[in-house]
Amino acid sequence: MPETRFLIALGSNQRHVRHGPPARVISAALTALEQKGLTVLKYSATLSSRPVGPSNRAYANAAAIISTGLRPDELLTLLKSIESRFGTRRGQPWSRRVLDLDIILWSEGAFSEDNPRLTIPHMMMRERAFVLQPAAEIAPKWRDPVTGLTIAQIASRKGL
Ligand code: ADP
Ligand code: MG
Repeated sequence: MPETRFLIALGSNQRHVRHGPPARVISAALTALEQKGLTVLKYSATLSSRPVGPSNRAYANAAAIISTGLRPDELLTLLKSIESRFGTRRGQPWSRRVLDLDIILWSEGAFSEDNPRLTIPHMMMRERAFVLQPAAEIAPKWRDPVTGLTIAQIASRKGL
């Protein structure tokens, strides 16, 4: 498949035994993406935010634009393997996790598949300030194919 671009959200709310606190986990994850053969075209500043769920932990979040010849489902499989190499998570979506890698947008538009379960745009992208703020920094004009709005417009409607 020819190279296409993906907007990826990176998140951490647990320190890594070797890399250290969440912000360091994010930069190690960017290196890991490159080591796995993805081209990181652009990445945002790392944002440290208050926890949004009941987990009561500080998060570090960032966004990156990558280029790859992988299909969306192949990319998800690769991202999950990187996540698990950084450490396993405990149960619920809001539980602590060393690294969370989500696919937010794809240059080719929407994508949906059941196995592995994958929906692009990411279902929560319009709700999550910790996704929108870093994404708006590096891809303000990228359009959400579902609403037709740019990331900058979605972010500004959230007051960001
Ligand atoms: P979240 O990241 O939304 O807080 P999880 O990381 O626990 O939640 O994701 C749970 C599942 O969501 C993943 O195992 C994956 O199969 C599925 N999923 C669906 N769409 C996406 C996407 N665009 N990016 C990443 N995972 C996705
Ligand atoms: Mg995830």
